[in-house]
Formats: sequence, C-alpha cells, structure tokens
Amino acid sequence: MTKRILITGCAQEVSTFNPVFSTYEDFTVVFGDDIVEQSTGKNSEIAGAVEILRGDNDVEIVSSYLAGATSAGPLDQASWERIASEFLEALKPFAGEIAGAVFVMHGSMSAENELDPEGYLLEESRKILGEEIPIVYTQDIHGVTTAKMLKHADGVAVYHTYPHIDFADTGARAARQLLRMLNEGAKPVTVRVPIPALVRGEQLITEGGLFGNQVSYLKDLHDDPRILNAGFQIGNPFTDVPELCSQVIVVTDNDEAFGREVALKAANEFWDNRFEMHADLVPLEESIAKAAKLKGPVMFTDAADAPSSGASGDSNAIVAEMIRQDYPHTVLVPIVDASAVVRAVEKGIGGRITAKLGGSLDRRFTPIEVKATVISASDGTFPLEKWPSIEHAGPTVVLEVGKITFVVFSRPINLVDRAPFYENGLDPKEFHSIIVKSPFCEPEFFDDWCQINLNVDAPGSTSADLPSLGHKICARPMFPLDEGVEFIPEPQVYSRK
Ligand SMILES: [Zn+2]
Repeated sequence: MTKRILITGCAQEVSTFNPVFSTYEDFTVVFGDDIVEQSTGKNSEIAGAVEILRGDNDVEIVSSYLAGATSAGPLDQASWERIASEFLEALKPFAGEIAGAVFVMHGSMSAENELDPEGYLLEESRKILGEEIPIVYTQDIHGVTTAKMLKHADGVAVYHTYPHIDFADTGARAARQLLRMLNEGAKPVTVRVPIPALVRGEQLITEGGLFGNQVSYLKDLHDDPRILNAGFQIGNPFTDVPELCSQVIVVTDNDEAFGREVALKAANEFWDNRFEMHADLVPLEESIAKAAKLKGPVMFTDAADAPSSGASGDSNAIVAEMIRQDYPHTVLVPIVDASAVVRAVEKGIGGRITAKLGGSLDRRFTPIEVKATVISASDGTFPLEKWPSIEHAGPTVVLEVGKITFVVFSRPINLVDRAPFYENGLDPKEFHSIIVKSPFCEPEFFDDWCQINLNVDAPGSTSADLPSLGHKICARPMFPLDEGVEFIPEPQVYSRK
C-alpha cells in the first residue's frame, strides 16, 4: 500500500546578540510540490531525504511548506507568528492523509516572545497530524534540540560535518529512520546527554579536530542496527535560549541501555577536551601589525561578524584599525551598508562618493568616513560555491578607497566562501589581505593558498570570546561563561511508544 510521506521545514539560525530583528521578508518561502522539485540536484536535506524515500516503491512524497532564512538577529514576533501560522495551516490538509513526516529545521531559531520556535512547531504539528505517525526532524550541528522537540518527534538526524557539507546525507538519515519505523517496526528510544559547555574554535572542525573524534564515533554507529540516528550538537553559542548547551543525541531502536552507553562515552570525551577546543584569538591591533610585515596573502578571520552565525555583517572593526595603523597592503573587505550602496548607485560607476561605512545596523561599530570610487554594481543575487543556497544581498557595489576594496551589500548574506567576491568581479587571490566573515571555510577557499589565517579578536555579536557576549537566558553554570563548572552527566530518555 502506498505510504505518503510529508516533507516540510522551517530553518533559521539567529544570534540573540545581534541588535537587529529579522523579519518575514528575510525568508524564502515555498509552498507545496515546488519544495521537492526545487531540491533536485542539490546537496540539501530535502534532496537527501527524497532520494532515500524514492528508493521505496511504495512511497509517495508530498510537501507542504518550507521557510528558510540566512542567519540573523532574532525573529520579530509578528513575523514569527506569520511563519508559524503558514507552516501549520499548510499542514492541515495532510491530517489523516500521511504515514510519516520529515521536518527540516536548523534548531537555533529564536523569536521575540518564543524561545523554542521549532519545539512549538513540532508540538502544534502533533495536534494536527496526531500522535501515531512518525516524525523525524533534521538539524544543524549548531542547533539546540530541546526537550519539547524530542517529546513530540520520534528522532533527529544532525549534521556530522563542520564546516557543513553533509546536508543531503543528514536528510537521508532522517528518511532512513522513518522507513525503518514504517517498514520494519523500529521503535525509537532516544537518549540525550546535555553538557554544560559552549565551545568555539578550530578543534571543532570535524575533519581532523578534537571534536571530529566524537562525531566520527557517533557516525560510525550508524552501521549498528541498534542505532537509528546519532549525532552531536554544540548549539549556536550566540543563540541565548533556555536549553542552549552542547549535547549528544542517540536514537536507538528500543535499546535504552546501548543509547546511554554510547551517548555517555561521547559526552565525557567532549567534556574532557573542552579547554583545548577553545579558539586562540589574536588581539586586533597585534594582528594588523603582524600582517603588515608579512608577504601574504593574509586571511583575517572576523568570526565575530559572521552573518552565517547570525551577525549583522556591518563590522568595520578590522578595517578601521588597518586605516589607523596605515596598513601598507591591498585589502578586500566585505561589509553590509545599505545607505552607502544607495549613494554609490546614484552616483554611478566611475563616480566618487563620500560614505560612512559600517555600524549601520550594529551600533557597537563606529562608521568610518571614506572617499570612494564606485567600481561596479550588481543585483547581489547569486549561488554560493558549495552550500545549496542562493544569496540575496540586494543591490551591491564595489568601492575602492586607496588600497582598500570594499564589497558593499544592502543586506547580510552568508559570507562563507568566495562567491560574494567572484560575483562582483573580484578575485581574492589578487589581494594581499582578505577579511573573511565566517569562523571556518572550506580549506580551498582561502586557507590553502594564504600564508596565514589570523583569527582576530574583534568585537561583534558572534565573537568567539563567549564570556564577552553577556548570556542571560541559558542555564548556568556554563563553561566558559562561569568558573569551576562541573559536569554530572544526566541522560534523558524519550520514547513515544
Ligand atoms: Zn551550523
């Protein structure tokens, strides 16, 4: 008999330290069958789930709603209510009509008055779809799975890679669990072990970092029939919500004891490594003085202003210090500043403008006044190099200020690769120094050909200097926000049967 499986989703990652609320307009919203059609050929959770589900001749795939946005500040209440209502309304026609569902989520959403949006969606979806059908959701390694999510779902598939490349594989793992439940009668029992630690550093790179050991241990468990899904979440340390933490989540086929054993092993190893997993940051002034003497190319990592982690993208902290120190080299700088773009577009290519750059969204940055030549303009819409997303930066211009070349966007976008430069006629290899607003990138993007990657201790709403951010909501004590934190593992068990 044909089983109808529903795919739906709602995903955003926020930094609650970004002072600018995100809105409905920041989301790309797709209804109905277009969701599956648009996933064709992509490395996305949906594409991965679809591939597995299509391998079962008795499955018919249906889809209702998908809302996704670039990381940003928390969602304003009216926008959240609109998205939640659209999501749930789109689900209603499928009540009683489907055998199971895959929910594609990120896990680090937060709205003005709803600190667990994904938990809310799962809880309300259950009321519509009933208690009987299996629901498995996918999440980012930076997601924050909550008790409410696990209470209303049957399992979760989490990315196993950072930087993230296994989008399709994650969707496939969610779909496999669903099929094992539907075809083989698997009975999920989930064990999660929360760890009172937030970490941010290069040891989190799963290809070779210390954290990678715990992730590959959990990944390898998928060969064991007792495991339906197993993953590690380190949370997004910038999403200050009640259940923010690091955690191991193991979904077993009715084997709580095994779930406890493996989850505790991974959690304890992570805890033991927590000090080493922290980022080594180079003080701002020192980084520029050091780079001034280098042959280059030099990569300045400005993870504190990473839009992909939820920052505003309008920090000028590094370039302002370069100007102050009379930095002698060419520099490529991405920055968000809508009003500078307007002035440049009005003036036209080849024109000269005076503009104040930076600090237009996040007031912790002081705008710098520059006299600039307008080099080029574009509509700011383009695909990323590897991530399965199309960026919408709005009108974008390239401005030249002496040795400094700014790519100025109207809106924050993911700055995780070279596409934002290439799409505006710029090759980062032609510059001595490049500011990269992402904590980590695929090595071939920059690291492989740069002389050095300076991870700069600049201010910003996604700074790796976590105690500087001022967390107020997450459970305390929490490493490294507090001193002398102890870890007493307390596995939590969830089962819907
Ligand atoms: Zn992530």
